[in-house]
Amino acid sequence: MSCLFCRIVAGEIPAKRVYEDTDLVAFEDIKPEAPVHILIVPRQHIGSLNELTIEHDRLVGAMQRRAAILAAERGVAGSGFRTVVNTNAAAGQTVFHLHLHLLGGRSLSWPPG
Ligand code: AMP
Ligand code: ZN
Repeated sequence: MSCLFCRIVAGEIPAKRVYEDTDLVAFEDIKPEAPVHILIVPRQHIGSLNELTIEHDRLVGAMQRRAAILAAERGVAGSGFRTVVNTNAAAGQTVFHLHLHLLGGRSLSWPPG
């Protein structure tokens, strides 16, 4: 298995896990870009948003809802947070296993770079 996030999900590569259930795993980003920077990934390998089908609608909703719950737990729900999915090269995707970035704890500029 060569996918980095599949290996993290499987426990083959260590990560600071902050949440997991039957469908999702969330862990701290190794190179945080904000005081709160968590990645929420499906256990199932999905390369990017470009691979989604209608079967994934519930899963993607669960990822966003989990981000809001984790933001509340970290105390940034009120101050504000951002959820981001980068897709393919121009958007800066570097790991080709779907992941939702949860960023918070500082002011986030808009538009993103
Ligand atoms: P993206 O550029 O949207 O594909 O995001 C990939 C993210 O994965 C980056 O923010 C990286 O810092 C993060 N990352 C890469 N390797 C690891 C790892 N071993 N554990 C946790 N996060 C990682
Ligand atoms: Zn994978």
